[in-house]
This record gives sequence, C-alpha cells and structure tokens, in this order.
Amino acid sequence: MARIAFIGLGNMGGGMAANLAKAGHDVRAFDLSPEALDRAKKAGCLPMASAAETVDGAEAIVTMLPAGSHVESVYAETVFDAAEPGAILIDCSTIDVDTARRVAEAAQARGLSAVDAPVSGGIAAATAGTLTFMVGGSQTAFDRAEPYLSDMGKTVIHAGGSGAGQAAKICNNMLLGAEMVATCEAFVLAEKLGLDLQRFYDIASVSSGQSWSMTSYCPVPGVGPETPADRDYQGGFAAPLMLKDLRLAMAAAASVGANTPMGARAAELYEAFVAGEGAGLDFSGIIKTLR
Ligand code: NAD
Repeated sequence: MARIAFIGLGNMGGGMAANLAKAGHDVRAFDLSPEALDRAKKAGCLPMASAAETVDGAEAIVTMLPAGSHVESVYAETVFDAAEPGAILIDCSTIDVDTARRVAEAAQARGLSAVDAPVSGGIAAATAGTLTFMVGGSQTAFDRAEPYLSDMGKTVIHAGGSGAGQAAKICNNMLLGAEMVATCEAFVLAEKLGLDLQRFYDIASVSSGQSWSMTSYCPVPGVGPETPADRDYQGGFAAPLMLKDLRLAMAAAASVGANTPMGARAAELYEAFVAGEGAGLDFSGIIKTLR
C-alpha cells in the first residue's frame, strides 16, 4: 500500500480519496475548505495543514480541482517543489488540453511522471468507486497510475499521450450535450404530436434513435429508469458543469480548426439555460426551456 497525497476534496474528490483510504492506502488529504477536510478525516484520510506537507513523501499525488488555472497554480506553487523524485502526478480534474500538456511537460522537465486522468461518472460514481478514467500520458506513466485509478473506478482506459485523456473527455461530453438536447427535442415534438411519451420511449429506446441520454438518463419524469427528471432535475450532473465542458470543447475545436456546429449550438443553448433557471439544475432539465 502506498502513501498518496490527495488535493481537492470537493463533491468528486471527497469520495475518491475515501475509496483510496478504503483500499488500504495512507491518504494525506488537503483542501482549502475546512469542512471538506473534516469529511475526509471521517472517511479515513489524514487531513493536512498545507498542500506542501500533503505532497511530502507521497508516491502518488492526485489532484481533483475545479479548472486548469487551479491545477497549474497548485503544481507550480507546491507540487513541483515538494514532490519526491519519482512520484507520479495524477490530475483527475476536467481541464483544457493545452494546460494538461503544459503541466505534463513541466513535470517531465523536473523528472516527475504525470498523467491527465479525467473521469466520466458523477458524484454517485465517485462515492461508489465506479468512475471511468480516460488517461493521457506515456505507457510507463499510465502503468504507474493505473493501480491507483483502479481503486477509484471500474474502468481505466489509456487514451494516448499527454492531454489525450482531456481530449477524450471533452469529445465525449460534447457528444453528450448535443445528444441530450436532441433527445429533449424529440420528446417535446412527440408530445406535441400527441404521442404517449412512455410509448415513444419504448419505441425509440430499441430503435435507431436510442442513446445513453434516452435509455439511461431519460429527461422526462416517470419515463424510463429513475433519473434526476424524477426529482424535478435536482442532483445528477449540474448544468453549469456541462456548460464548462462544452466551452472547453469549443475552445479546443477553435484551436485545431475543427468544425463542430452541433457542439456550438449545444453550448449556446446551455449558456442560455445556465444564465436562467438551469444554474441549479441537472443538465437534462434543459427540456424545460424547449417545452
Ligand atoms: P468541487 O468544487 O466540489 O471541488 C473542488 C474542490 O477543490 C473544492 O473543495 C475546493 O475547495 C478545492 N480547491 C480549490 N482550489 C484549491 C487549492 N488551491 N488547494 C486545495 N483545494 C482547492 O468540484 P467537483 O464537482 O468535485 O469537480 C472537480 C473536478 O471534476 C472539476 O474539474 C469537474 O469539472 C470535474 N467533474 C465533476 C463531475 C461532477 O459531477 N461533479 C463529474 C465529472 C468531472
């Protein structure tokens, strides 16, 4: 079992650090929030007073922070100086591809290995240890990170070199955003055409219109499996996080000249949704704006 530094114990990181502790690791944990530190202590982690103390002596350093600017500053201000030579840096935050590549290069220049390892799956999957990790980095860095990631998730996939994990994550979530909007539109049109929505679900979920947004995350209350729609769109995957991922996808598309008109329209629709009632709702609640 290893000594692991875990920085960023929020909605996702709290459950992930707890699962590493449950697997028997010595988890030293740090967050700017005292409440988050307290929760980590109750979950079997050792709360630390600073990021530098957390990182000191760790074999693996996991970060789960809000955005690229947080990761870059935590790495530059603490991790690069305090990490043991040979430590593996594992950033699980969702950040932009360029920042992920930049921090990996800076780590390599200091003799440290690094992977970007963003996740698919929300707070419930982080708590249950059933996340999917998409990992960017060299084969050697992937092999070193994989056992730790397996303790926090059910699937760990090597996507390619540095930044490839983030690239896979934003491509996946751009697809999800566009697909959710299209699924909502189909239900709204079906309703206006007088179709029974359960009957439409029964047909579309076994036909060519089938998708994860339809069969696993149906945006209509009372139809399909239990989803945030059944709780008036509370909980689940917050619309502002979907907007964050769509903005990252649009920035990445612009940087490489990719043509992504559906992603761009989904980003516009989520901008409007989050500026209004969507700020506190699950992303499938966008159906309310289409009705
Ligand atoms: P969160 O805001 O709940 O947690 C972030 C934590 O980082 C907070 O506790 C904050 O205090 C801490 N933090 C910020 N700056 C820090 C610093 N300098 N030092 C130490 N701690 C610091 O966010 P979250 O929902 O846990 O998401 C984390 C990441 O995971 C984001 O990049 C998000 O896009 C991604 N993600 C979230 C979900 C989800 O459903 N919530 C799903 C997939 C991916």
